Amino acid sequence: MSTRITVAHGDGIGPEIMAATLRVLEKAGAALTIDEIEIGERVYKSGNTSGIAPEAWDTIRQNKVFLKAPITTPQGGGYKSLNVTTRKALGLFANIRPCRSLHPFIRTNHPNMDVVIVRENEEDLYAGIEHRQTDEVIQCLKLISRPGCEKIVRYALEYARNQRRKKVSCFSKDNIMKQTDGLFHEVFREIATEYPEIETDHWIIDIGAARLADTPEIFDVIVTANLYGDIISDVAAQITGSVGLGGSANIGEQCAMFEAIHGSAPPIAGKDVANPSGLLHGAIQMLSHIGQGEIGARIHNAWLRTIEDGVHTEDIFRHGLSKQRVGTKAFADAVVDRLGEIPQTLDPVAIGAGKAIVIEPYKRNQPASKELVGVDVFVHWAGVNPDELGELLNKLNNPQLSLVMITNRGIKVWPGGFSETFCTDHWRCRFQPAEAGAIIQPLEIVSLLQRAIDADVDVIKTENLYLFDGKQGFSLGQGQ
Ligand code: NAD
Repeated sequence: MSTRITVAHGDGIGPEIMAATLRVLEKAGAALTIDEIEIGERVYKSGNTSGIAPEAWDTIRQNKVFLKAPITTPQGGGYKSLNVTTRKALGLFANIRPCRSLHPFIRTNHPNMDVVIVRENEEDLYAGIEHRQTDEVIQCLKLISRPGCEKIVRYALEYARNQRRKKVSCFSKDNIMKQTDGLFHEVFREIATEYPEIETDHWIIDIGAARLADTPEIFDVIVTANLYGDIISDVAAQITGSVGLGGSANIGEQCAMFEAIHGSAPPIAGKDVANPSGLLHGAIQMLSHIGQGEIGARIHNAWLRTIEDGVHTEDIFRHGLSKQRVGTKAFADAVVDRLGEIPQTLDPVAIGAGKAIVIEPYKRNQPASKELVGVDVFVHWAGVNPDELGELLNKLNNPQLSLVMITNRGIKVWPGGFSETFCTDHWRCRFQPAEAGAIIQPLEIVSLLQRAIDADVDVIKTENLYLFDGKQGFSLGQGQ
């Protein structure tokens, strides 16, 4: 049965590499019905700052599967990145980037690398919630949600199962961010138990990234949060030696978008020299996503064979390694000619049963019992001696809420701080009931804030301290 997809030919080299990609898909027998839309430079320049017209959105939302060539984002003029808009608007929570070495045909220091990075795509520091709070300090909120973690972890494990991969590694920094990254790791541990055939492990992001750059062959699938994934997916693509060949998938609960990693390369546009491989790899991921994985594998193997045979476009042509320098169209022809063949030196790809990956919709848990046990009051104060601030704030105490700690950039500076600790003008002042573990009412916080205002304390924000089912929902101060 044919799947209806939306195709955008893009800008620069986009139309050439899309034509080459679609030709290979057609010759391989992909069952697709194509609706074309226009996005990118011409749309931007017609005065639409998002680069996409409302009718094009309708087509994308109706078809749910979107194969997108790179576009040119005009400089300045308030033009918004279409990629970011598309990811967020369509809820494309997962970014999947396979990074595989093609040694000895493409030069790399890591001949045995074959890693897939599964990056959470919607939350973390990319929520873009930032506030300047004092003269010296600006805050960016890192939001990690249980649904966000469950969806991405489940996708990574389902992907591993579908692609017959053996191991999934979780990268986080839960030794420092015990609540946010702690949740990511906890969800990974929970859900991994549902996939007993897949080996799982966890790495602290810094050493994990170092090992990925140094010994990538120890990894198979890596799942991680947005910022870490953004960084390590570029590192991983780069060290395969073939960043120009990579494709990526952006998957949501309802829609998905597939593309090349690279941009529109305006200087080489229209010259029939661009390499269509990145977009072709995006398309191979698309075929797997829509349940035509066997055709995707057929194309992938023909492509590997083309690379092995030394039929290379300009960007990957190396004297001694390459045999035939070809243009965009001739490269696509070479892949078509090899459909049905498998590589001789490189490992052929074996894609599962070609079933589409289906993630169960998120089911909300029973709400936890939530108890208010204190408040962190953030204060803008230009003094330097935390003892003076402690003395000032101690005057606000009552039995329901009294000052227990002040931190500066997370380090406890009162009571009993070190004179060596550098302090900014941004202070987190924790108030809890005098009686340990007592529960307070929200109005106690309002009354504390009133006392603070009366005492000329510059309160910039508050964060409530909760227990969820008796478990602490906030971090301790470093050194507390
Ligand atoms: P680029 O990826 O277009 O080009 C970087 C270098 O790689 C250039 O030397 C280019 O010639 C080469 N290159 C890229 N793709 C190639 C291919 N398929 N075959 C051969 N060589 C290739 O990055 P850039 O120059 O920074 O950006 C150009 C435009 O692309 C900008 O307007 C940028 O905003 C846009 N862009 C779009 C996307 C997207 O649509 N997903 C992604 C990145 C950049």
